[in-house]
Amino acid sequence: MSCELSVAAVPEEGDCPQWVAQPDVAARARLLGERFKRAYGRPPVGVWAAPGRANLMGEYTDFSGGMCLPFAHQYVTLTAAAPRTDGLLRARSLQDADESVADERLREVRVVDVAPGAVGGWFGYAAGVAWGMDRVATGRSAHPVAVPELALAPGFGADLMVDSTVPIGAGLASSAALECSVALALFSLSTGDDDPDDALRRALARACMDAENYIVGANTGGLDQTASLRSHAGETLALDCRDFDVANLPAEPAAAGLTWLAVDTRAPHRLADGQYSSRRAECEAAAAVLGVDRLRDALPEHPTDDDAAAALGRFDALVADGAPLDGDPEGVRLRLRHSLTEMVRSVRIADELATPDADWSLVGRLLVAGHESMRLDCQVSVPELDAAVAACLDAGALGAKVVGGGFGGSVLALAPADDLDALARSVCATFAEHGFRDPLFLTLQPSPAGRRIL
Ligand code: ADP
Ligand code: MG
Repeated sequence: MSCELSVAAVPEEGDCPQWVAQPDVAARARLLGERFKRAYGRPPVGVWAAPGRANLMGEYTDFSGGMCLPFAHQYVTLTAAAPRTDGLLRARSLQDADESVADERLREVRVVDVAPGAVGGWFGYAAGVAWGMDRVATGRSAHPVAVPELALAPGFGADLMVDSTVPIGAGLASSAALECSVALALFSLSTGDDDPDDALRRALARACMDAENYIVGANTGGLDQTASLRSHAGETLALDCRDFDVANLPAEPAAAGLTWLAVDTRAPHRLADGQYSSRRAECEAAAAVLGVDRLRDALPEHPTDDDAAAALGRFDALVADGAPLDGDPEGVRLRLRHSLTEMVRSVRIADELATPDADWSLVGRLLVAGHESMRLDCQVSVPELDAAVAACLDAGALGAKVVGGGFGGSVLALAPADDLDALARSVCATFAEHGFRDPLFLTLQPSPAGRRIL
């Protein structure tokens, strides 16, 4: 393969801090088009890109109907595509990790054969989108209405080639970026519409969620896909996961001399290995004790700390009265406490961002409280994440927290923009003291949703 498109070189140990380069999306798209032509013997019709995301608050609460505050960042996954008329979906990825790095092995399935259990590995994320689009089109998904625009005609197929600038498995949502770039490509090939409106983007996000839930088997709740398809530059989404309504809030701290920084701990991140699903099951068990469909319904419309404490008290009283509880009672109670307090923190940050002069130090303190809850109550942190948070705070960050599902992955910090390198060096020193792998650093800008690039 040509070196311009190679997967980001793994840095030498001891070469810390390493900053992940800002993606040159237009250049990557052009090169991907050339690679596509060499591989498939014809040029792509276009190249579509969709971003990964960070999340200010609302971890492990999307499936409970909570509010999340994700923003799309500038690192995107690109999909070059051309249509086929024989019903075949074929794909290659420049980051195909199922075999060796950057293997371009051709994956292939008939669109009509995509089903749970039928497509394994990374190709499940891509092929699953075609399956999800059909479900949403015909009203078989949880999407409230059938959206016939998402239907793929009989015989519809496509050749795809994927290239990601999002670090993979780092908690920055490379999986959603992959699904959403494929969704935009397939939708455009099928309908000719390159700029779907918000209603269609919401439907496409559901198709991508279905791909991840049922074809890949990762029981995630829609936060990542919504951010990837519905974000705006400079803003964070206030995503109400009861109905997937969104509001946009300013989330650009540059005027206050601050920036969003991600520390990719490079500790392995394993969302699909059952930990995520078991946390979700514990939240559902807590909801059953409280007699609500989902935990968000245990809180009033604009919840406060007192409301969270009251709901926890009701849970304790019900359990003391012998209410049946499915699971380990201590684990279920901790997950409940995380969910309730996290939902309150999301509302508090959203309120703060909505004020004309947001108090970023308050936002930072809430991020730290969010991390503590992820560590102690959700129990998804690992020593690398805790060390990264502590080191960022020691070096002057206003706040820092794990982002995404935990068990490795990245920390999001709100950091003074003037000396990021000094902050990064001090994280490196902490990691070296602990004997951890060198982390990677990325500055993140709240960025627009997925779109056609070429
Ligand atoms: P995250 O979404 O935080 O990066 P996940 O574990 O949810 O982590 O998703 C990572 C998985 O997504 C990878 O193991 C791989 O299967 C798939 N993936 C993401 N991007 C690509 C890509 N460009 N090429 C192939 N597979 C990808
Ligand atoms: Mg993911």
